[in-house]
Amino acid sequence: MRKPIIAGNWKMFKTVSEAVAFVSDVKGKAEIDGVESVICAPFTNLPALVEAVKGTSIKIGAQNLHWEDSGAYTGEISGAMLKDLGVTHVIIGHSERRQYFAETDETVNKKVHAALKHGLVPIVCVGEKLEEREAGETKNVCKVQTEAAFAGLSAEQAAGVVIAYEPIWAIGTGKSSTAEDANEVIAYIRSVVAGLYGQSTADAVRIQYGGSVKPNNVREYLQQSDIDGALVGGASLDPASYIQLVEGA
Ligand code: PGA
Repeated sequence: MRKPIIAGNWKMFKTVSEAVAFVSDVKGKAEIDGVESVICAPFTNLPALVEAVKGTSIKIGAQNLHWEDSGAYTGEISGAMLKDLGVTHVIIGHSERRQYFAETDETVNKKVHAALKHGLVPIVCVGEKLEEREAGETKNVCKVQTEAAFAGLSAEQAAGVVIAYEPIWAIGTGKSSTAEDANEVIAYIRSVVAGLYGQSTADAVRIQYGGSVKPNNVREYLQQSDIDGALVGGASLDPASYIQLVEGA
C-alpha cells in the first residue's frame, strides 16, 4: 500500500544542459506505474527540469531549503520559491549537509515544517556514522534524529514525510548495508514513528534506504518488508542506470 519512491540525489553534479539531456534520455522509461520517480537536482537546474518533465510522471525535487519564506538570508532558497517553481520534493538533513554545512536536528526540524507548509514532500535523511555503528549506537542515533525531525508535526503531516535511512559509512563508498540489516533499522525507525503517532501513521510513512544503491542491488532492498524505496546518489547520474533503478523498484 506504500508507493515505492526512487529518488535520485544528484548532489553538486550536472549543468542545465546536462540535466535537460538526462530527462530526454529517461522520459517514458524511468516511468513505471506504481513507482514514484523523483530527481533531486541542484537549484540552478530546477526551472529547466520542471519544464522538461511536463507531461511525464517524473517529479522534481531540491536538495535543501531555508525555513523562512523570505528575508535577509544571503545565498538561501525558500520553500515558497521552490513551490512556485513547480518543485514537489525536497531532501532535508542529508549527512553531507549535517557534516559540511552545520545542519542540526533543530534546523532539520524547521526545514521539515517549512517544506510541509508549502506542500513539498520532505525526504528527511537520518543515519549513523561508522563509529556510531561500531559502538552499537545505530538505532539510538536514528531514533534521536527521527524524533527531532518530526517534532511538532501532526499525525497527518507526519504521514506525508519520506524518511531516508542512510548509514553514512555506506554513502558513496560502494559499501552498502546488507538488505537485511537495512530492513531491521528501517523497521525500527517505523516503530519510532509508531511510538510518536500510532501504528496507522507509521504504516503510511515511506522509508527509503540510501547508500551505494545500484541497479544490481536495488531489488534486494525493495523486496524487504519495510523498505519503500531508495535515495540514490552516484547511480542516479547516468540515464541508463537511473532507468534500471526505477524498473528495479
Ligand atoms: P550514493 O549516495 O548512492 O552515491 O552512495 C547516496 C546519497 O548520498 O544520498
